[in-house]
Amino acid sequence: MERLVIVSNRVPSLSLETSAGGLAVALKASLEESGGLWFGWSGTITERPGPQPRLDQCGAFSLATLDLSDEEFHGYYEEFSNRTLWPVFHGRLDLLRPDRKAYQIYRKVSFRFAHALSSLLQTGDAIWIQDYHLVPLGKELRSLGKMAPLGFFLHVPFPQAETFAALPYHRELLSDFCAYDLVGFQTSACAENFREAALRYLGGSLRNDGDIAFGTHSVRVGVFPVGIDTKAFREMAGSSDVQRRTQRLRACMHERDWICGVDRLDYTKGLAERFRAFEMVLDETPALQENISLIQIAAPSRESVLEYRDMRSQLESLSGRINGRLGTFDWAPIRYLNKAFNQAQLAALYRVSRIGLVTPLRDGMNLVAKEYVAAQDPEDPGVLILSRFAGAAQELTNALLVNPFDTSAVAAAIREALRMPLMDRQMRWRQMMNHLETNDVHAWRREFLKALKATSNRARDDS
Ligand code: UDP
Repeated sequence: MERLVIVSNRVPSLSLETSAGGLAVALKASLEESGGLWFGWSGTITERPGPQPRLDQCGAFSLATLDLSDEEFHGYYEEFSNRTLWPVFHGRLDLLRPDRKAYQIYRKVSFRFAHALSSLLQTGDAIWIQDYHLVPLGKELRSLGKMAPLGFFLHVPFPQAETFAALPYHRELLSDFCAYDLVGFQTSACAENFREAALRYLGGSLRNDGDIAFGTHSVRVGVFPVGIDTKAFREMAGSSDVQRRTQRLRACMHERDWICGVDRLDYTKGLAERFRAFEMVLDETPALQENISLIQIAAPSRESVLEYRDMRSQLESLSGRINGRLGTFDWAPIRYLNKAFNQAQLAALYRVSRIGLVTPLRDGMNLVAKEYVAAQDPEDPGVLILSRFAGAAQELTNALLVNPFDTSAVAAAIREALRMPLMDRQMRWRQMMNHLETNDVHAWRREFLKALKATSNRARDDS
């Protein structure tokens, strides 16, 4: 495998630093090793986007980007990716309003991307496509005669087969998934759901090694839980910059315990359920009132989408109601912040918080849970409360695992975390940290690329 080509909806900006988050940094590291190419949308909307990608050099690798038209941005990105695929992959069929026109535009963007990318491909390239925005791209490349090894990784969950089948276009999309040589998922449950859907709705056959065969082509199905850049995050959390930030925060905490929540404002994150569980703790344990606060960051996301605007008003009124009812002159139970913070600010918040409260209703992985653990002070670590329905729960089994729909259970976990003795906290933290150190984002990308290489060797051996 000579050169790696990564394709994602958005190509990160040229000046990628560690503050950009672990995933982009890890992908960039893969590209630097192979002098690779990162291809995708520029982030710009233009009236008549040209067919040729714009090329930029970024150190050892290149970036190739295309603009989208207004119609494409709306149909491909907002309507089909974010308002159709996102709810289906997260099991929210109540929000599903499939729109055929948007679906056609979604496919057309993959078609256009495939044409633009194919002119840049070289012999020996391996292509790795990221996430649900570009599922049909691999098949389009094959139909253009490109025979490079093709890998796809789904960052979001893959739902149960019947849930996926609620999407009118499920067969076509499943057949797109199966055009890849390797399809990777966050958890074994997601991989199983996918196998079941492919077997049931496409009629492939399951091989002994778990691959799915369709005549002469077979698709390898793998599990690759995405990690964070654990070492970099731990070092940042212990840096003098973050230390200064934690001192400033402690000065305004007045000896109170903080519980932190850090999310994009999204209906999958269980924020309203979380506020209600916190309210229950305060109502049932008056001694905790004025002694704990929930600091909830809800970074703005997909604000043009109706469901997100509704979610925002719901959270504003819920936090307002709880603060109005229980707050005092010098204490607000919930500090709700509807804006985005950088990684150093988050590291400081994680480090001063006695509890990291991560309770999505459904989440592919949840990197915040991992960052919270990596940011803790080994001498006096906080407690992670984690939803069983986040992919991260398969790995962070020493967190307090909860059902986020069960308000009393989440409230009980908060009380347990507040009481947890130091030895217990240290033991749980050590075990989670050991796991995160071994299974970091660099191990993730190495494992995926090793498996992709193995599928291309297999194809050669078979022929
Ligand atoms: N994040 C951030 N600033 C914020 C909120 C979140 O940089 O104000 C980052 C956070 O550190 C994490 C990512 O966004 O790396 C969120 O990833 P996660 O897997 O938890 O959820 P997603 O947003 O991908 O659904």
